[in-house]
Amino acid sequence: MSFCPECGTALTLKPLKNEGMIPFCENCREYRFPAFNTAVSLIVLSPDKSEILLIQQYGRHDNILVAGYVNKGESAENAAVRELKEETGLNVISLEYNRSEYFPRTNTLMLNFTCVADSRSLDGLNTGEVDAAEWFAPSLAREKIRPESLAKRFLLYYLDEKKNKL
Ligand SMILES: [Zn+2]
Repeated sequence: MSFCPECGTALTLKPLKNEGMIPFCENCREYRFPAFNTAVSLIVLSPDKSEILLIQQYGRHDNILVAGYVNKGESAENAAVRELKEETGLNVISLEYNRSEYFPRTNTLMLNFTCVADSRSLDGLNTGEVDAAEWFAPSLAREKIRPESLAKRFLLYYLDEKKNKL
């Protein structure tokens, strides 16, 4: 059972055309689609696009992609630029949407982008948030990224499906 985020009334399921059974608030007379989080993750390319940045966080030694939640009211594009700056000190020169996937464990829709960074320098790394960061050639990034992860699926999609068509 879930409750209306506006008025707290218990929601009931009501049919909605082409959508199936959707939670409905009898008090507000509004459908209340289930809420989820939105985050961005980034395949960060070096300025010459020859290398990919992988990071390690939270005391773990898995190599992952730079990622972060989208703030309420913020665009995904802005979140991507902001997160790269906050975590690595790097600026985004260009940004392109890659693909998305829902991550059930954190109830998050993850939007993956590819971006080109303005520098290879990691002097501005936010060591409070990122334990380590390293540039890898694409063939090595493919091997080094955390196995069985959403980050790996995004990276492989980019390298195998998208990169050649750009
Ligand atoms: Zn309500």
